[in-house]
Amino acid sequence: MKTVETLESNVRSYSRSFPAVFSRARGSIMFTEGGRKVIDFLSGAGALNYGHNNQEIKAAISEYLESDGVVHGLDMATPAKVEFMETFSSVILRERTLSYRFQFTGPTGANAVEAALKLSRKITGRHNVISFTNGYHGQSLGAIAASGNRFYRKASSIPLSGTTFMPYDGYLGSADSPADYVRKVLMDESSGIDLPAAILVETVQGEGGINVAGKEWLQSIQALAKEVGAIFIVDDIQMGCGRTGEFFSFEFAALSPDIVVMSKSLSGYGLPLSMLLIKEAIDAWEPGEHTGTFRGNNLALVSGKAALTLYWRNQTFSQQVQRLGAFMRRRLDAIAHQHGNKFAVRGRGMVCGFDCKTTEIAEATSHRAFEKGLIIERCGPTDQVVKFLPALTIDQETLGQGLDIFEESLTETLNSARGS
Ligand SMILES: *Cc1c(COP(=O)(O)O)cnc(C)c1O
Repeated sequence: MKTVETLESNVRSYSRSFPAVFSRARGSIMFTEGGRKVIDFLSGAGALNYGHNNQEIKAAISEYLESDGVVHGLDMATPAKVEFMETFSSVILRERTLSYRFQFTGPTGANAVEAALKLSRKITGRHNVISFTNGYHGQSLGAIAASGNRFYRKASSIPLSGTTFMPYDGYLGSADSPADYVRKVLMDESSGIDLPAAILVETVQGEGGINVAGKEWLQSIQALAKEVGAIFIVDDIQMGCGRTGEFFSFEFAALSPDIVVMSKSLSGYGLPLSMLLIKEAIDAWEPGEHTGTFRGNNLALVSGKAALTLYWRNQTFSQQVQRLGAFMRRRLDAIAHQHGNKFAVRGRGMVCGFDCKTTEIAEATSHRAFEKGLIIERCGPTDQVVKFLPALTIDQETLGQGLDIFEESLTETLNSARGS
């Protein structure tokens, strides 16, 4: 850790929350250099839905490397890319009667968000984008302009323009109807809000505090986008690839976004891979108009295809995710109940947020949890929400052990606060 502390930029973050050198990992377990074994409930912020070093996916990558398959080919056609698109189309899209074209963008989620916003602005000739309170879309200027967090916005040090924030579902409290507000200002010729090129939304806000949008709210936002001639974009970077129980996080609401943004667990192995799914009718790019050196990395396409083949050809995996998600939710609800329901639990499928209401409780709890062998992060406007993002492939026993550690850590935190 000494080298990290002295040589790495002050900007480093996760190595502060989890101060250890991690040398190996398998499934839901990480091992430190000192031989400590810790359960991982962070899963690369959602990039490791199938666990660390998934052995079956690893076999596909090893085989590809052994065969001298093309690793870097810009966006030239390779069997890896052809097979990925064919598999995604047949296993995911056709099953859901969806039809999209694939745009492989630069490797990060932010790269893909930028491409989606750029395409929407190009198609509509408008500049404004509607995004939502507590939304998070990445760190590049266009993506951060659509993200709510002040700490991140301030770090940009230039005016962030081109977006208007609207209240996310539930933001104004349950008595309000925030979708009605969005409708009213977009329909009103004198509301002061420019007609948008796009409406950009997460169905569950990951970084923003595990805020869950309801089916009706999402459907009315989608309908509104259509009415005002805006491109409807779902950012499924963190909540896609099975996190909420189904492959896409918007399936429960039967949405049909114009553009879907995917990254994080798309490669299935933690390798960088991002893409847009674009409805054919709005694929308005000129050839080469949006480019980049690292688009559709072939190793990531190979592992991504392996993950689709392994987990998504039938309903079994999805059902297992929903079952484990329900188990986790029941445990967390029970923990909240024990504490007189002063805490709130939110989530869908295998993502849960335990809202500790204060930064101090959440911070002390996750620190204690790490000492006891659990990696768990926080999210929300003041990092007051403990975020449960275990691998979807975790076994129930390990999941239960992690939840036990969280429960003990919370209880001890509350007891020591009371004692002091
Ligand atoms: C992580 C994330 C991003 C940004 O992805 P990066 O790879 O970090 O650029 C964008 N949107 C959502 C919803 C995310 O969770």
